[in-house]
Amino acid sequence: MKVAFYTLGCKLNYSETSTIASQFVQAGHSVVQYGEEADCLIINTCTVTENADTEARKVIRRTLKHSPNAFVGVTGCYAQLQPEEIASIDGVDAVFGTKEKFSILDTIASFEKTEVPKVFVSDEEEITEFNESFSFEADSRTRAFLKIQDGCNYNCSFCTIPLARGASRSMPFDLILSRIQEIEKSGYNEIVLTGINLGDYSYEQYKFVDVIRLIESSNVQSRFRISSIEPNLLTQEILDIVLSSTKFCQHFHIPLQSGSTEILGKMRRRYKVQHYQDLIHRIKEKNNDTCIGVDVIVGFPGETNQHFEETFRFLEVLPVSYLHVFTYSERENTPAKGYEQPVPYSVRKQRTSRLRQLSELKKNVFYTSQLGLKKTVIPEKYDNEKGIWNGFTENYVKVNFKAPNSLVQSPSVVLLNSFDGNNVQSTIESIQQTNKMENVRDYIPILIS
Ligand code: SF4
Repeated sequence: MKVAFYTLGCKLNYSETSTIASQFVQAGHSVVQYGEEADCLIINTCTVTENADTEARKVIRRTLKHSPNAFVGVTGCYAQLQPEEIASIDGVDAVFGTKEKFSILDTIASFEKTEVPKVFVSDEEEITEFNESFSFEADSRTRAFLKIQDGCNYNCSFCTIPLARGASRSMPFDLILSRIQEIEKSGYNEIVLTGINLGDYSYEQYKFVDVIRLIESSNVQSRFRISSIEPNLLTQEILDIVLSSTKFCQHFHIPLQSGSTEILGKMRRRYKVQHYQDLIHRIKEKNNDTCIGVDVIVGFPGETNQHFEETFRFLEVLPVSYLHVFTYSERENTPAKGYEQPVPYSVRKQRTSRLRQLSELKKNVFYTSQLGLKKTVIPEKYDNEKGIWNGFTENYVKVNFKAPNSLVQSPSVVLLNSFDGNNVQSTIESIQQTNKMENVRDYIPILIS
């Protein structure tokens, strides 16, 4: 059977699609690119996307156009939370919840189209297993994503993820290093540790700091990034290791969500603005070149102009490098949906746009501060016409530099010369040894673009 996959949402979802795809291959099926003729389409959905149903409908329609008999299965967070809504979409044959995501082949006896869609969705309390998965980035063999944690025990008032993905659970500690070595043998030089609430990693007596120590004391050569970590879980111990490490990238992504402690309280976040501020200053004092990305939500119910200005001014002076700005949208089954004083949509949009402009400014300041320094970049994309590579430094500066095509996968030291508003123009200084690629592959690289 030819199977196509389509993924919506976060990097974790991509890595999970990758695992599902490898199960199909191991069972003798072949994976085709989405858009090609297929006998089966599996869509891995997201609940963060407001238009997840519209998107799913579009994907299904496109597939059924050229493969009218294709069996359509839908899984992922949206499937877990709104199974009936998905089952009512024209063309859907089966809906699989979070628990059923990795047992689609065992759950379905035959991949024939059905009159009435089947729904296989367990309750949230039954989602207890940790399923391994990792994925690789599109059109380069640079970066791999390794999921070591899933689910969340926090109950932020705007978030549906704990409902969709269940409680926090983690990869067995003794598996982590061997998985990393496998990825390394596949030729990847950068590994991103991912999770829903990564800093909450917990397996037997081991915590996230133990994972960091394990990697730091190992002989693996890849460089590592921590995808995102809650500010209350980024401890001094973790900072001490990462900020003086040659393995870990000097790059953190730390959700803030609001620069008003009052709004943070309504969001049920587990820190105050002061804590966040101290944390950022501690990081920058130890290593001023560290790149810090920040998630912010604007337009949360009750966010007055004053609250928003507080957030804006807080971020304006905080030495962070870029912002990921999210416009608040009401999610079913979350406490915040019932909160008073919803912010008008037009105001949410204006605030989003102001913070996005601020983000550009912060990025420019950070990039400019790096000029004159030497950093290591893993070449990602090559412009054949111009003979130029681009990629990211360990502290997440996007650089361009002239070098031959043969440089693929070779971490290179570059001198950061000038900034053109998009990339930092650099010159190559030296090339480091690269991980050798052996074809170790139980996993199908589902590509993230
Ligand atoms: S920490 Fe909060 S925002 Fe993040 S996944 Fe958990 S509940 Fe959602």
